[in-house]
Amino acid sequence: MSVERTFSIIKSDAVAAGQSGEILAIIQKAGFKIIGLRMTRLAEIEAQNFYGVHKERPFFGGLVKFMTEGPIIVMALEREDAVKGLREVMGATNPANAAEGTIRKLFAANIERNCIHGSDAPETAAVELAFFFRSSELL
Ligand code: UDP
Ligand code: MG
Repeated sequence: MSVERTFSIIKSDAVAAGQSGEILAIIQKAGFKIIGLRMTRLAEIEAQNFYGVHKERPFFGGLVKFMTEGPIIVMALEREDAVKGLREVMGATNPANAAEGTIRKLFAANIERNCIHGSDAPETAAVELAFFFRSSELL
């Protein structure tokens, strides 16, 4: 298994609640190297495009509203098996189903306001990294 990159977002709920530092500490303790990071706020069109795969889903409107309600922190992460590894550290989409010690179990309120995004496959990670970072920004 070689070193891989993944993309993550500390979502607006966790940023507003002051949980960014604790979430970053969990990610770093799990062996991820932060190779890009910045705070930003999504415009509606950006959130719609980022989550375009979900545009037919009933939760799409609420998700876009949530993702644009305040600042988020976007991150590029590197580790062996990074995509799968980050999903493990995040926990299940619905915090009610998330394993003990995972970020969503610790901090998420519900299936929508669930603190963190992580890419679901290496191909998705490449697209999502390029959505937010130029390759020259990843150090
Ligand atoms: N989401 C939601 N309701 C649902 C499923 C998902 O509001 O029933 C939101 C939630 O914020 C989730 C995001 O949509 O993180 C993307 O959904 P996905 O199924 O891709 O979950 P993830 O990959 O984030 O675990
Ligand atoms: Mg997903």
